[in-house]
Amino acid sequence: MAEKFDAIIIGTGQSGPSLARRLTSEGLKTAIIERKLFGGTCVNVGCTPTKTLVASAHAAYMVRRGHEFGVVIDGSVHVDMKKVKARKDAVVKQSNDGITSWLRNMPNLSVYEGHGRFAGPDTVRVNGALLQAARIFINTGARADVPAIPGLDQVDYLTNASMMDVDYLPEHLVIIGGSYIGLEFAQMYRRFGSRVTIIEKGERLIHRDDEDVSEAVKEILRDEAIEIRLKAECLGVEKRGERVAAHVQCKGGDPEVVGSHLLLAVGRRPNTDDLGLESAGIETDMRGFIVVDDQLQTNVPGIWALGDVNGRGAFTHTSYNDYEIVVANLFDNDPRRVSNRIPAYALYIDPPLGRAGMTEQQVRETGRKALIGKMMMTRIGRARERSETQGFMKVLIDAETEKILGAAILGIGGDEIIHSILDVMYADAPYTVIQRAMHIHPTVTELIPTMLGDLDVFE
Ligand SMILES: Cc1cc2nc3c(=O)[nH]c(=O)nc-3n(C[C@H](O)[C@H](O)[C@H](O)COP(=O)(O)OP(=O)(O)OC[C@H]3O[C@@H](n4cnc5c(N)ncnc54)[C@H](O)[C@@H]3O)c2cc1C
Repeated sequence: MAEKFDAIIIGTGQSGPSLARRLTSEGLKTAIIERKLFGGTCVNVGCTPTKTLVASAHAAYMVRRGHEFGVVIDGSVHVDMKKVKARKDAVVKQSNDGITSWLRNMPNLSVYEGHGRFAGPDTVRVNGALLQAARIFINTGARADVPAIPGLDQVDYLTNASMMDVDYLPEHLVIIGGSYIGLEFAQMYRRFGSRVTIIEKGERLIHRDDEDVSEAVKEILRDEAIEIRLKAECLGVEKRGERVAAHVQCKGGDPEVVGSHLLLAVGRRPNTDDLGLESAGIETDMRGFIVVDDQLQTNVPGIWALGDVNGRGAFTHTSYNDYEIVVANLFDNDPRRVSNRIPAYALYIDPPLGRAGMTEQQVRETGRKALIGKMMMTRIGRARERSETQGFMKVLIDAETEKILGAAILGIGGDEIIHSILDVMYADAPYTVIQRAMHIHPTVTELIPTMLGDLDVFE
């Protein structure tokens, strides 16, 4: 006999808990199911811990650069990895405790700890119990992908999740994957004191971004003596005593990299393979992501999919935005859609990359008349004052409408500054609004109007 609810949420990622609050406050008897840690990836093994570790790495980096600022350190500097991990654990615990107690004390909500699996289009089984509801929301997220790399089954490897238990300094960390997660770990561990090699199959790092951005990021990492091996056409791994050998090139160049530890950072895979989707008739794409419409409904009426699992975003803010879209449509008579949102994200190396809207490459592909502005960080007083002059700002404008099409800010504060552009894009205002704004001195943002006053026609 099924226990009846008005709504069931599977997974407590970045949309599930907020959704639970709204559903219950609308008077709906709701069940939420979590198989592991409340708060999901971001809180426990993703954004929160990595950004906390990045902060420790930044502290180590600035201490080593102290002499450039006239700060004299008598004696050696080293990083205590046990303390670094303890700090990270404390920050994660605070967030995890907050979500856990929020959910446990939420009126009208039943919390189930176990693996949820569809038994039919309106039923979910968890720990032997059968739950039934007319509305079911999937927020089961994604996990580290483990592709079929030759030899991988013979060696020990780390993923973003197991990296969270590391409380020692790997002597030589070899990272397979030159995208966001790999690069953040690369710089962090280099700054902690490891030797680090990044192996990337493609021709460049962060290949979805523009070439000039990839190139500048590569230079930033190389300046810190991070080794980068691109075009790794013969990828394979093998145990070499206590060490691990990664095969990289087979046509020329150094054929392999031998390190002490291996981190796999080659993408994310949706948590849909053991969700009983077939029992409910829910459609997935070739890669296992749940197919949703512009308002996040699946092909089965009464079932929605939110967050990484729907393949429409891979960030905390896209998952949270999914929650906002779903409740706006359900309760607020507000037909918000996924297609209304502007792509935006950050890469948390130091200095960070903030991105909004289209890349230069994407603008070129549309064939429209466009204008481009670019300014190197070396021209910006605030960056020079802080001796952090790596990177550049770039903005793309539609020549006819004068609307901003996209921007990249790679440089000090880039993850925050990008919002001054993003918000004008949301306001659907022309770029001249920022160009005429008076910004505060001395900041990086004060040079955005200057950059906008010196635009070139796209070549
Ligand atoms: C190392 C790393 C760093 C990141 N850094 C950032 C960042 O800086 N900024 C950013 O925006 N994004 C970042 N992300 C991405 C971000 O973590 C995710 O996009 C975000 O967590 C959204 O996930 P979600 O809501 O889809 O679900 P998730 O957070 O993945 O949570 C899904 C939950 O569902 C549970 N679950 C799965 N299957 C079942 C089941 N069958 N039954 C019950 N429960 C189930 C899981 O245990 C999990 O708790 C990072 C990711 C990683 C891995």
